Amino acid sequence: MLSQAGQALGMTFRFLDPATEISAEGLGEHIQADYDDSDARRRFVDGLDVITWEFENVSLDSVRWMAGRCPVHPPADSLRIAGDRLHEKTFFVDHDVPVPPFRAVNTLADLEAAVEEVGLPMVVKTRRFGYDGKGQVVVRGREDLAKAWEGLGGVPLLAESLVPFDREISIVAARSRNGECIFYPPVENHHRGGILRLSVAPRGEISEAVAELARKHARRILEAMDYVGVLAIEFFQVDETLQANEMAPRVHNSGHWTIDGCDASQFENHLRAVAGMELRPPDVRGHCAMVNLIGDTEKAEALPPREGRFLHLYNKAPRPGRKVGHINLVAATARELEQLLDDTSRGLDSSSLNGIISRLKIRPGSSQS
Ligand code: AMP
Repeated sequence: MLSQAGQALGMTFRFLDPATEISAEGLGEHIQADYDDSDARRRFVDGLDVITWEFENVSLDSVRWMAGRCPVHPPADSLRIAGDRLHEKTFFVDHDVPVPPFRAVNTLADLEAAVEEVGLPMVVKTRRFGYDGKGQVVVRGREDLAKAWEGLGGVPLLAESLVPFDREISIVAARSRNGECIFYPPVENHHRGGILRLSVAPRGEISEAVAELARKHARRILEAMDYVGVLAIEFFQVDETLQANEMAPRVHNSGHWTIDGCDASQFENHLRAVAGMELRPPDVRGHCAMVNLIGDTEKAEALPPREGRFLHLYNKAPRPGRKVGHINLVAATARELEQLLDDTSRGLDSSSLNGIISRLKIRPGSSQS
């Protein structure tokens, strides 16, 4: 999606990816090698103007090596911070961004002690390599502690309070090389099994005060890292307060709606930022939503064409739990978006999506219609 946006800006691409088949096939030269393959990374940097990533689990050592030879944006340090949940939470705290109570866990005894500090129920997460709900468990009673410790493999963990949130929101922001920041409207996110299923944007239930808080936190984090590019932060909302859950130093799944829902997508603005161009204001086109396609795309591909519905396929082999595409929905009013969402979820016949949408009905008389 980055390289598709970049083609419209006249950019050309080279990809370093260990996979033999990549989503961006045909959109640039593919160097197929491990991220820390020293010969491949030398060939990769040769002649490039700028390097960026769309995936966090790249080799930090290689990114640092490349940064000594070619401009790299965002800063390599953002990968180090976001790549470890302890560093990430500590960074939020150091920059006055509230987070749920947490503690680092290196032994079963630490995990037992965490109960006193963060309370029960709590979520226990591996510090590194967790994504889409992998590498985390909810502990409800002391009797579950040993099972959680063993189940997560006895690796360094973070224990944090299970937040009884009203909703999960995220904000996608971009910062240019000269420090200009733009913000997409915060979106409401719905997960099942730890995987993002649906984002709704912009959502009337997110008050202007909460949106402003999200922008304030995002700006502080962007400036603290002297960040260049797109960054996303996920928050738990409780009443009118926010607690940061995590950040992604890259374009983000909850920003995919911007491809069809905004004049300038997160992909375009990420590229503009890293290439030293001026950012473009998002200019939202209406009431939008994004439905992730998880596992396969068969039913999505069979949906009839419909105004305001846009199918995006990632050219990835189907696999249970894998994000293989998404559908963007754009409507003039909240009512029309609700109808479009209803019809789409019926067509996809997805029980988890239907469950989310039936609880999401837009209230009559809400400010969104
Ligand atoms: P994460 O991998 O940290 O983004 O977690 C995936 C999902 O698990 C989140 O989007 C939440 O739905 C849920 N979750 C993670 N941590 C917590 C928490 N401390 N309290 C409540 N829900 C959580």
